Order: sequence, then C-alpha cells, then structure tokens
Amino acid sequence: VKPGRLFSAVFLILSAQFIRLLPISVVHQPAQAASALSVQIAPGWDGTLRRIRVPVLMYHYVGDLPTNADRIRTDLTVSSSLFRAHLQYLQTQRFTPISLYQLEAALQQGAPLPIRPIVLTFDDGYIDHYSNVFPALQSLGYTGTFFIITSRPDANDSRYISWAQIREMSANGMSMEAHTKNHAELDQRDYDFLVYEMLGSMQSLEAYTGVMSHMFAYPVGRYDETTLQVAAQLPIWRAFTTELGSFHTTDNRFEMGRIRIHNTTTVGQLEFLLQNY
Ligand SMILES: [Zn+2]
Repeated sequence: VKPGRLFSAVFLILSAQFIRLLPISVVHQPAQAASALSVQIAPGWDGTLRRIRVPVLMYHYVGDLPTNADRIRTDLTVSSSLFRAHLQYLQTQRFTPISLYQLEAALQQGAPLPIRPIVLTFDDGYIDHYSNVFPALQSLGYTGTFFIITSRPDANDSRYISWAQIREMSANGMSMEAHTKNHAELDQRDYDFLVYEMLGSMQSLEAYTGVMSHMFAYPVGRYDETTLQVAAQLPIWRAFTTELGSFHTTDNRFEMGRIRIHNTTTVGQLEFLLQNY
C-alpha cells in the first residue's frame, strides 16, 4: 500500500466518523441531494427521473356471467366476445402489450418501449384467466399481468387458477404477481399484518413459479401511509391502485394508476379511455 493511498483511506474513515458524530441538522445537504434521499427508488435506477404514459388496463372476470350474478359481479365481468373485441381493437390499432418489468426498465433506465405500449392486468386469479384469457393472449403473442390472491390456490378453490396453472402461465410469458394472501384491505392494519399479507403472497408465488414477484396490487385499491411504508421495505418495485391514470413516474412507485374495464366498456369506450387518460 502506497503511503499516499493509506493516508487518503485513513482521512476518509476519519471524516466519515466525524460526519456521523455531527447532529443531522448541521450536515449541509444540497437541495437536490436531499430530495433524492427522500425518493425511494428500486435498485438499478440510472439517476434520471422520468414520466411515461402507458395505459394499464384492469380486468377482473372474463367469461360468461352466472345466472344469479349480482350487480358487483356483473360490473366486474367482461364477456368473452367483448374481450376478443378489445383485443382485436388493440391489434388493429397496433398497441403492443408489455410487462410491468418493461415499464419499470423504461422508467428506471430509459429502456426503449415498443410503439403504443399498453399493460393488460387481470385481478384476483379467477379460473377465467386460465380458461379464457391465457389462450386468447397466447394466440396473439401478447403478455398479461395477473394479480393473484395466493390463499385461493393454496385452498385448491376451483373458482380460481391452481398453482400448476399459475406455474404454466408463468413459464409461458405471463407475469404472475402478488395481490395479498387473503384479499385483505390494507388500510388501518399493523406492520405484522401487512408484511404477512404482502410479502407472504410474494413468497408463495416465488416458491411455486421460481420467479420472484416484484409487482403488487392493493385489494379493492385500499391502502394508507403505513401500507406505503411497508411496501417501501419489501422487494416491491411497483404497487397498483384502482385510481384512474396512465402517467407513471420513476419515483412514484407505490400509487400507480390504472384504467378500470367494466362489463359495459364497449370498444368505443375503451378507445375513449385510451385517448383521454
Ligand atoms: Zn382484487
């Protein structure tokens, strides 16, 4: 070791110790550095804050309505024929479905996106997603993002996709992401409960698919300050609300907007939503 280098090493260690001893308020931070510190960014950020418009569509059931469906079930259901019409529209308008990881790379590192990027998300892991959505997306070479309530496949509930189906979809280009273990609303909860529901569902997905889930959706769009704090401590890169919006930024990672698709969302209304939000 050259004496000069040793001296600078010792100097660095001593100055680091000195700074640590100072009260926080005495350490001067330039405004830019201070704001950068308050911004929680996932690993791999290149230092540039970006704002990108990518519509994230939110579907629930895709298929036939049961005869006794109530108002909520009806609103959450898009028929197979309407869903095919939506996909046909996206195809003719040359939209390119991308994964949330592509969106994340674009926001974090400026990775290029295809023309007219769009994200197709499907909440709750209904069996429809395996029987109707997965083959429809595959036939067009589209990718989809599925937010899974992991207690449902844990219980082998036949109304929901199984772990074997989740694994198959994951292995065939679909993103299988976390939506808690029990679809618990995440506002007004304590730390342990939030970690159990959020990290628990992520770990189950990783255990069954071999792929870590970094994307999350709040059940019923419910969350509060504590939820956001816990999200920032977990390996969650992006968390989605049910709020309407298609503009995404590098730093606002845990309050991502989407476009809700209803039973009544015609192709014309889809077009309106894509052009105006
Ligand atoms: Zn849900």
